[in-house]
Amino acid sequence: MTSKPFCRWCGKPIAKKTFGHWFNSPLPQSREDAQRRVNGQITKVNRWPSTIDDKQKAGKIFSANTWDGGSYRTVYGFFCSSVCAGHYAENFADLTGEGHPRWQEAIDKAEGRA
Ligand SMILES: [Zn+2]
Repeated sequence: MTSKPFCRWCGKPIAKKTFGHWFNSPLPQSREDAQRRVNGQITKVNRWPSTIDDKQKAGKIFSANTWDGGSYRTVYGFFCSSVCAGHYAENFADLTGEGHPRWQEAIDKAEGRA
């Protein structure tokens, strides 16, 4: 995909498709340290709380989400969510009066034409 996609119902950006990456010891201290150890662009880092007793872990980064710079979540097709896809479908059906052939078959059957 070459350009950033937006939801065809609400216009919000489609979420980036990211991957989880877990770090082995020694854990990175900073986002920059973490970035040097992964492929792809870090979108989020997750740290151990700085208050924990284990000084090897306290405040350090245990995982990060990375993005390849071009992939977006496609689970909802052209939409940011199933809710938006549903709204679009309802609006389309209402405006056009159209439906899936299974819908027409069901009506035909109910009305004794099939
Ligand atoms: Zn949406």
